[in-house]
Amino acid sequence: MYARCPLALASILLASTAGCASHPAAEIVYLNGNVYTVDSRQPRAHAVAAREGRIVYVGDDAGARAFIGGATEVVECEGAAVYPGFTDAHVHLEGVGARELRFDLTGTTGIPDLLRRLRERVDAARAGDWIVGRGWIETGWEPPRFPTRFDLDTVAPENPVLLYRSDGHGAVANGRALALAGITRAAEDPRGGAVLRGEDGEPTGMLTDNAVALVEELIPRAPAAERRRALVAGARIYAERGWTAVQIAGAPAEELADLRALVADGSIPLRVYAALLYADPATPGLAELFSDAARARADGGGTPARVTVRALKVVLDGALGSRGAALLLPYLDAPGAGYLLHGDEELLELFTAALRAGVQVETHAIGDLANRRILDLYERTFALVPPTERAIPEPRWRVEHAQIVDPADLPRFRSLGVIPSMQPSHAISDLHFAPSRIGAERLRGAYAWRSLIEQGSIIAAGSDAPVEVGNPIIEFYAAVARRDLEGYQGPEWYPEQAVSREDALRMLTIWPAFAAFEEEWRGSIEVGKACDLSIFSRDLMTVDTDLILGAKCLMTVVGGKIAYRRPRN
Ligand SMILES: [Zn+2]
Repeated sequence: MYARCPLALASILLASTAGCASHPAAEIVYLNGNVYTVDSRQPRAHAVAAREGRIVYVGDDAGARAFIGGATEVVECEGAAVYPGFTDAHVHLEGVGARELRFDLTGTTGIPDLLRRLRERVDAARAGDWIVGRGWIETGWEPPRFPTRFDLDTVAPENPVLLYRSDGHGAVANGRALALAGITRAAEDPRGGAVLRGEDGEPTGMLTDNAVALVEELIPRAPAAERRRALVAGARIYAERGWTAVQIAGAPAEELADLRALVADGSIPLRVYAALLYADPATPGLAELFSDAARARADGGGTPARVTVRALKVVLDGALGSRGAALLLPYLDAPGAGYLLHGDEELLELFTAALRAGVQVETHAIGDLANRRILDLYERTFALVPPTERAIPEPRWRVEHAQIVDPADLPRFRSLGVIPSMQPSHAISDLHFAPSRIGAERLRGAYAWRSLIEQGSIIAAGSDAPVEVGNPIIEFYAAVARRDLEGYQGPEWYPEQAVSREDALRMLTIWPAFAAFEEEWRGSIEVGKACDLSIFSRDLMTVDTDLILGAKCLMTVVGGKIAYRRPRN
């Protein structure tokens, strides 16, 4: 009786079947699904029914039919795999959309390809226009070297150019941009950044972290309308990939206001949990965050989708790719050991105030020095502010990336109750260059998912898109395979740190919900929780590892509403 369609979920309105007298009819019922609930009391099911955005039934098809009434939409899942709504615990949504809308350098095969793409942009630009792109990564190039201003100057002598590496922590500027920024041979490195130089001492054009800002601050900001278009485009792409919720890893106050408006008017169909990006004590929006955070949490439950802002994002060091990650010992393949971007006293003052006010702190820490330093600072803060003096007793503070950790520091995440927020895809991108940066011995505590879980920590998994693609299937695959997309792993990549499929599923569902204080009302398929579902063509829990990447999102459901449905073809 249902319309059948092998690639798309068919849904029909049932006009005649009456609901069982003891149950008010559901608004939507999903039948014949291969449902994984992430609820240990009832791990598997075939059917889900929802009303007013919340799940009212989980069980078999026969039981679900009792919830079908005259106006109930019935979705026939045809055996498709149904999971609790996936959450990206670390994403820069504006960047995801901007990558589509602006100059995208993803997939650049080498410097000739980079220059060919740049020449196209230069030809289309007006004199003096800035050309800003993002997404190149040199590690797969032959040779794997950073591009230089001299490369760029051959095709862009007049327009100022800044092209970000995919990690966003480094960028190459051309001669015109360097001149406008006053970056000459005499320029000094800013705190927390480097102006890379050739053997002759001349800047090569390659800038990392705070040195990028010297050029960045000259670029006219995109108009507000364009930024909002990027947010909407990013959310559309995310719904199509099966994400139901995003945790924004640091945004300025004006972007948070845009997010609120776009979710309220329905332009963004996802749940948004967002952190204000901290720059310094005068950061706009900081005072509002401190006064509103505790209330934002109390208000966090329920449907429909909404924006919750109660976290503060701090960036403590750079990234491994551009050698800004702060290490205990120097890099093996270049001088230096990275840098820290903030001093202890500044952070301690900020953190104690945050803990009192109920603000959740999430700090970017990649290198083993940065990770040790942030655990030290969190520990000191927790000791200084006893639970009775906190607006919310349990801080659930996070370390974003927790990427290279001295094995001695790994158990501190559990003992301090600090949540590692990690990106499985980083491990399968970095396996191509991390060994040459830091060597096998220091990789022992790197991307150490299994060790952290076995020690009792939970891991909130995210993609860090647009640094990575931002696809839950890639994150799931990376977590269980710990191999790149071609299946390559390489020696000394600690395959034992891959996780079980059950843990990978938790990393994308209930654990990020916990990391946002949302586990009581979402993150698993249970009666009473929000009806957030991610439905895929393949069963991620049983399909061969190398077939995981072929899974297609069929439907994304947020609060019982269909945010994306794969078109029939
Ligand atoms: Zn990030």
